[in-house]
Amino acid sequence: MEKLSKSKRINYLLGQMGIFTPYDVVNHLPRRYEDLNYTKERDLKNKDRVVTIGKIVSLPRLVRARNIQIITFEFLTNQKNYFKVVAYNRQYLMKTLSMDDEFTIVGSFSKKNNEINLINIYKGSIPPSERLKAVYTLPSDYQNYLFSNLVRKSLDDIKGKVFSNIPYKYLNKYRLIDKEKALNWAHFPSNYEEIHQSHRHLKYEEALLFSIKNQLIRDSNKTLGKIKKEPIGIDLCENFINSLPFKLTEDQYKVSEEIIEDMNQSSLMYRLLQGDVGTGKTIVSFIALYANYLRGDQGALMAPTDALARQHFENAKKYFKDTKIKIALLLGSTPQSEKRRIYDDLNEGYIDIVIGTHALFTKSVNYSSLGLAIIDEQHRFGVNQRITLAGKGEHCDLLMMSATPIPRSLALTIYGDLEISTLYTFPNKHRDVKTSIVKTTDDIIFERVNEALENNKRVYVIAPLIDYREDERYSVEQLYARYVLEYGKKVGLLHGKMKNEDKLLALEKFANGETPILVSTQVIEVGIDVKNANTMIIYDANNFGLASLHQLRGRVGRDGSKSYCLLAVENLDEENKEKLAILEESEDGFKIAEQDMKLRGPGDLTGFRQSGIPSFSFLNIIDDFRIFEVARDDAKEIVKDKDNPSYKWVINKAEKSIVSKPLIKG
Ligand code: ADP
Ligand code: MG
Repeated sequence: MEKLSKSKRINYLLGQMGIFTPYDVVNHLPRRYEDLNYTKERDLKNKDRVVTIGKIVSLPRLVRARNIQIITFEFLTNQKNYFKVVAYNRQYLMKTLSMDDEFTIVGSFSKKNNEINLINIYKGSIPPSERLKAVYTLPSDYQNYLFSNLVRKSLDDIKGKVFSNIPYKYLNKYRLIDKEKALNWAHFPSNYEEIHQSHRHLKYEEALLFSIKNQLIRDSNKTLGKIKKEPIGIDLCENFINSLPFKLTEDQYKVSEEIIEDMNQSSLMYRLLQGDVGTGKTIVSFIALYANYLRGDQGALMAPTDALARQHFENAKKYFKDTKIKIALLLGSTPQSEKRRIYDDLNEGYIDIVIGTHALFTKSVNYSSLGLAIIDEQHRFGVNQRITLAGKGEHCDLLMMSATPIPRSLALTIYGDLEISTLYTFPNKHRDVKTSIVKTTDDIIFERVNEALENNKRVYVIAPLIDYREDERYSVEQLYARYVLEYGKKVGLLHGKMKNEDKLLALEKFANGETPILVSTQVIEVGIDVKNANTMIIYDANNFGLASLHQLRGRVGRDGSKSYCLLAVENLDEENKEKLAILEESEDGFKIAEQDMKLRGPGDLTGFRQSGIPSFSFLNIIDDFRIFEVARDDAKEIVKDKDNPSYKWVINKAEKSIVSKPLIKG
């Protein structure tokens, strides 16, 4: 790979984070603030964080022990206390540590030797107005102060061009500061109150816009009255249900009833079916499609990837084989002539159920009577795509499916009056996946792989990146090479940049055992069902969100046999351990989702897209619950009075954001 120049590289890194304009820069809020207010040294307790100012009073010494470099020196603080300061692996400091200057030192205090373990050191004193320093979530080789400089420059660039989306009435009601100030204070606060005031504005603004958007979608759904149709009941579906190769779980039955009941209502269905990976959502969607067929309507089932759409198609053909239902598969890669035939047949009403990807809502697709649109893995689609699909029918019920469970009260708060059905139980009771955190170099990894191969099982190997990117994370290519070295022709490769037919071939070879090891990105997170996969190794597991990891491991152990998920990390530091331990301990998708949402501070880069939870820049879904509630009520007020000129701007903005970009990624 060609080496990039420094500025190009920085632009590249920013692009990776979705940052392209000065507005994007200033919207990337600090993850936390480093407090540089000086500590009272009198009350110091062991392990306390210390910030102090003073002078170096002994010549700094550098010692090398094995491959660690240790710097030590004596420090006399302005509060007249002596400390020994120790710094690890900071050889470069030797040049700057002079005995003539004052330094501000940040470190952790160790009572035993009256020692300060150095974290940061700054020349001179820190002016009172700069004692809260923004710390950003950035790629590992992008330094904080560089980004800070960029923020300063960007704030300058947009000066006078920043407008809040909050109508004046509400700015006033909550006594919010103006937006430009809010952004300035968020990045360069002089005290905690400024941070607080800044966040009040930014969070409320985001929650309000989100809520107005939801309200608008809801309203437009409601106003589309439904054509009165023959009511159908689940009793009419019994024949179909009894023809299935398995018995429905109680949950599946109950939820199917709920959905059909909802389809009988005079207003359109707007419902989320949530259930952990493997709870059996697909068959519920088929029952809904069946009921919809009985009332004489066409149905569409949209999946985010070709592979998943194909899998649904194969299953549908199998389960519906004793019916007269005509099913078609429509993908972007479907040959043009066949596409044209499918378009005609949909238009003429010859096709009852169409299964596919985005291709389902392109302009050329017209249905004769679309009555039910189902969206699998709904979070992979932008809001507008869901709406566009439903909009293909004049009176179309909408069912969205998601594998990330959201606590009900939370879902109601963020989505308003969306209906929710939940599958709590698994059809295979004995799913037995043991999850453990290991180091990437542990022997246990290959031992597990060997064991799986001996038992004729399948192994998933997951990496966070596709190609080598000069950073420290594992890539699929790298791991593929590594595994081929060990296991030769038994290894397959799968990632989003491959051609469709190659992806399919890879999946097929994996399923039939030709390549029992599959090295992949998290594309396989989505829906793929290979029953006898019993081992999964996720490299750099700390790079994924908890909900994503939980979804990933849902791919193994589907035949009920003893299974393993190894979360491999380079460093077993406290932060990683604490986060990943939740997965070791819990199988409860709700609990994990909640933890996941809690752990994500603003500006967190990992896992948003895969989580199924709408992503927010400023809000934390759990901690800022109250703000959502307030904003939801305000949004109702605003939308009700939407011709009011003072609401024009925000309504407009919300409408525009409904046409959002697709969220699909390989
Ligand atoms: P998900 O909710 O993750 O989409 P799927 O619909 O893919 O789950 O179902 C997971 C697996 O469980 C599939 O192989 C499906 O055939 C099987 N399955 C679904 N319902 C039942 C059931 N009631 N009894 C036994 N197996 C079932
Ligand atoms: Mg599924």
